[in-house]
Parts: sequence; structure tokens; C-alpha cells
Amino acid sequence: MRVYNEQFPKVIPSLQETRVIPYIKIHEKTVLKRLDMIPDEDVRLSLAKDRLSSADFASLISPSASAFLPQMRNKASALKRMHFGKTVRIYAPLYISSYCINNCLYCGFRTANRKDVRKRLSLPEIRAEGMAIRKLGIDSLLVVSGEDPRHISISFLAEVVKELKKLFSYVSLEIYPLDPGGYETLFNAGAHGLTIYQETYDRKLYGHLHPSGPKMDYDYRLEAPARAAKAGFYNIGIGALLGLHDWRSEAISLAAHASWLRKKFWKSKIQFSFPRITPVGGGFEVPAPVSEKELEQMMLAFRICFPECDITISTRESCRFRNRIVQSCANLMSAGSSVVPGGYSSSSRGKLGQFGKRDVRTVKAVEHDLRKIGIEAVFKDWDKCLGA
Ligand code: SF4
Repeated sequence: MRVYNEQFPKVIPSLQETRVIPYIKIHEKTVLKRLDMIPDEDVRLSLAKDRLSSADFASLISPSASAFLPQMRNKASALKRMHFGKTVRIYAPLYISSYCINNCLYCGFRTANRKDVRKRLSLPEIRAEGMAIRKLGIDSLLVVSGEDPRHISISFLAEVVKELKKLFSYVSLEIYPLDPGGYETLFNAGAHGLTIYQETYDRKLYGHLHPSGPKMDYDYRLEAPARAAKAGFYNIGIGALLGLHDWRSEAISLAAHASWLRKKFWKSKIQFSFPRITPVGGGFEVPAPVSEKELEQMMLAFRICFPECDITISTRESCRFRNRIVQSCANLMSAGSSVVPGGYSSSSRGKLGQFGKRDVRTVKAVEHDLRKIGIEAVFKDWDKCLGA
């Protein structure tokens, strides 16, 4: 069975229809119906292959494949070992501002949320945070900010990157989408990775969840990873916020997006993240909850079909799940994270976090637990001289 044409990574930049999977020309309903019809035999055949197609990816995320998780784990583990050895790279996020002019209904930083518990760090405070993170042994940093362009401008971000590059070998960004010139400025300042989640690939739902602010522009966000790759960013992180929409539909869209990016920007490496919504207060009800088993099936399918790509697992997930998933899928994980600006160097009590954490272990405890399962924690796999 072929779910979509082998030419599927076909961009449709001005796609106006709702419920059509971006980057492929097929209606979501058709795709989901076909996934439901995939028989066990197709899953077995896909698992026996060395080179998997987009149709095999569909088999592995199908309802039938949920009965094949042990076989999928075995195949994914072998591929993870082949491409990354028995290692996982550790990084930490540094939140520099919890102000945001957007109003994403699922996020603790949304503009409608309380203002009195927000914080924006100055350059000296960012340096202090960086030094506190460095003391934990972390050498790879992800700088995170809400959309706060008056204060967290491109020129300020460039200063931040230059300052943090004095402390860290690798600096990446998770910020609002920029024009090509903005990405070039930050790449030239020393940032080498960019993460930008589409949140949901479903255009109609996206409009509902982002009722105000610049983030309302679906296409501008969808095309941001391509603009960053064009500016030279080596690592491009993409993903959907799981729990907003049917996870199988999001998986198909994410795979199509990644395939298109890989084909067009082969010098950049794709990094997948699979963040599940965690409660932050404010009464947002998760519309399409994703179970741990479904999350694992999705991650295994990505590891098997995109074996050389990075897969990240954050502290949103429990330590039990993280310890399991680094053996089969994830080669990147955050540790000792604070999701509050100033959370590493000062007390963050009462301050607003972007999401809740399930794994609150220290970096040392994470390293210790990884060693117990035969995995080496890698703190440095990038040098400042690279890409200088
Ligand atoms: S998800 Fe990002 S853009 Fe949306 S409110 Fe939160 S910080 Fe702002």
C-alpha cells in the first residue's frame, strides 16, 4: 500500500485549504483512513527492510504497528547504536524572557496570563545564568525566549549569543521566527542550531489556538526552518506540540516537512522533538492527549525511518520513560533544566514557567542513571572553532 506518492515532499507554500497535510498533496482524512487499513503484514514487511520509504513510515505509525513495539524497539536500538553509539548528548535550556506578545492558549507565557510573575534577563543576568549552567558541567546550550521583540531584539540576541559563546561550545536558539537577515545575523554571531515547532500542522486548529499576535501567521512559521537552513544553521529542530491534534496526522506532516527540508537543505541536520503538553495552569484542556505508548511508537518510527537524524527528549517526560527512550531513540536530552528565566542562578519560586517538568533530576543524577544502563553522557561534541 502506498499512502502517498513517492514524490511527496512537494512544497505548497501558499496552501490555503484546511486539513490538507502541508508538503504533501493529500487530505488528512484520506491519510488517516489509509493508516487505519494498514494490515499487520505491511508492518512486518517494513520492519524487515533496510531502506524504508514514506509508505513504510506510514506502516510504522499505523494502529496495526502498535502491536509491534518490541520489534520496533529492537530495530530502532540497533540503528541508534549504529549512528550514535551508546551515547546521548546532554544540553540545558536557558530561558531569557517569559514575556510574550502571543497568546497561545496552551502556554504559560501567553500574553493574557499574569504579568506580575514574569521576568526578562539583562545581559549580566544572562551571563550569570550561563556561568551557573556551566558549573553543572553543561557545554551545549539552548537559548529560549518568548516573543518579546521590543526587548529581545535581534541585535540583543546577537549580543547574548556572543556572550554565551565565551562559555559554551555550542549555542542553539528557540525563539520567534525571523526573516532571513535575522537568521544570518544570529548565525554569524555564533548560534549554530535553531529549534522551531510548528505546534500543530493543522491550519484550522492553528488559527484557533493562536488567536492574536504575530504567531497567527501559519505560513511564516512553517517556512522559518527553511529560512534558518538557508542562512547556514547546521541543526534545525522541528516538531509538533503533542496533544493538540491527532498524533498520527502530526507525524505524517512532520515527516513530510523533514523530508522536504532534507532534500532542499542537505547541509543541515534535522533534529526531531516530540514535546507533549504538560499542565501549566490556566485551565487549558488537552484536546488530543497522547499516551506514553503512542509517544514511544511515534519516536520509534522516526528513529527507524530517519536513522541519522537527531531525536531529542526533554524533561517534560518522566525519568523512567527517558531512561528507556535513550536506549532506542533519543540521542539528545536536556538535564537539570530550569524553565524559568533566572532559575539557575537565583530562586525561581513563584515565577512563571513555560511548561511543567516531570524529570527533576540533577545533571549528575541523569549522568549516573545513564551509566547504569550502559549509556555514556556526552557533554561536548562541538568545538567553538567549528563553523567559526
Ligand atoms: S508558545 Fe511561545 S509564542 Fe506562544 S505564548 Fe508561549 S512563549 Fe509565546
